[in-house]
Amino acid sequence: MNDSDTLPRQADVVIVGAGIQGLSLAFNLALRQVRDIVVLDAGYWQGGASGRNGTLIRGAFSSPEWTRFFAHSNRLWWGLSRQLGGNVMYSRRGYTMVAERDTTAHLLQRTLAVHQDCSIDSQLLSPTRLRKVLPALAHERVSAALHLPDSGVAPHHAAMHAYLKACRARGVDVRYRSQVTAIDQRNGAVDGVWLADQRIACDCLVLAGGAQSTALAGMLGVALDGYPMRLEAMALEPTRQLIGPAVALLDRQCYMHQTARGEVVGGAEVAERPQHSLAADVPVMAATAKAYAELFPQLKAARILRQWAGLVHISRDFGPLLGAHPGLKGLHVSAGWCYGHAGAPAAGELLAKAIVTGAVDERMRAFAVDRFERGCPVIEPGIVLSHFE
Ligand SMILES: Cc1cc2nc3c(=O)[nH]c(=O)nc-3n(C[C@H](O)[C@H](O)[C@H](O)COP(=O)(O)OP(=O)(O)OC[C@H]3O[C@@H](n4cnc5c(N)ncnc54)[C@H](O)[C@@H]3O)c2cc1C
Repeated sequence: MNDSDTLPRQADVVIVGAGIQGLSLAFNLALRQVRDIVVLDAGYWQGGASGRNGTLIRGAFSSPEWTRFFAHSNRLWWGLSRQLGGNVMYSRRGYTMVAERDTTAHLLQRTLAVHQDCSIDSQLLSPTRLRKVLPALAHERVSAALHLPDSGVAPHHAAMHAYLKACRARGVDVRYRSQVTAIDQRNGAVDGVWLADQRIACDCLVLAGGAQSTALAGMLGVALDGYPMRLEAMALEPTRQLIGPAVALLDRQCYMHQTARGEVVGGAEVAERPQHSLAADVPVMAATAKAYAELFPQLKAARILRQWAGLVHISRDFGPLLGAHPGLKGLHVSAGWCYGHAGAPAAGELLAKAIVTGAVDERMRAFAVDRFERGCPVIEPGIVLSHFE
């Protein structure tokens, strides 16, 4: 996958990590006429979380900060195939959040108010309307459902392929099997990266290393919040079309959607942290199967076809860490992504703008890397992971 076998001796920007975050940023930097961009990845193409996710793209959450950022990203997804010149297979099929408990139903009512403030098309579904949107749901268990008609799904392989192709077409040097082993700094600024005994000099470095992001920052001796966490997903054998939109079963910490070939793909989260292993886990499969069977009884007979895990980087408020790192001149971060597939188009666009112009867009400001030191975490109660706190 390498552009050539010889590493460049220097680059204008080095990005560590060629998952969807690293590639989206590289593409957007190239659009802004940055030259000599090198993206280095220790693993193989799609070996990180960007090749292992549930592919859901949710365009709104329960906090204004998350909603503004992800609504922007969702809108970028709509035009991404055209922008990249490759089909990302985005399907605007809607996204329904389902509450069983009364407290979660109240959260959805508050969420609707946030969406209205942010001018997002969002609808609390009446029982009759919910039957139309999700006829196979066990309606007697549901206390409320909030529907985002403009959200959807995009297969990760299609998005990764389109981003990689678009990067290479613009001269970005993307290299897999290329592990960064050390990072240099000089006089309080980034100075270069090492791949074993080879060095690339650079004064602009972006850490987009997914689960390894905190460890990468450690190579520079600077702190970065967060830890690796395992998320798991599974696919059921194909069934007839039962589930139209993407679905979050909030009280089960579970999400799902049905692919074009009929497989139901998704997963439930169980409280475990931190995790470095990609091993399959029976408790997660059992929790997912239970949620599916109870909320979609027709899935009871479907067998599990595949199961897999991936590692993501989780910050202490579960939000992204996006922007300049205050510890070192020339150091930038795109990490902390548990919804990094959905967020990639906006993260790449806004971080590229910040790197090139120095202007920090309002939609990314809330996710600044140093927000915890300043006592400004972003509270987002509408994600399944936040139930762990
Ligand atoms: C099971 C599962 C389901 C998910 N479902 C969804 C979903 O439905 N919607 C959604 O939006 N998100 C979802 N996610 C999260 C999403 O996949 C991630 O947030 C996103 O892929 C993060 O992208 P990334 O580029 O930051 O990380 P990655 O794709 O993990 O890329 C980081 C890369 O950094 C490289 N790297 C690390 N250290 C080094 C080093 N020293 N030198 C060079 N390279 C290095 C790694 O090899 C890796 O390829 C899910 C994740 C999982 C695991």
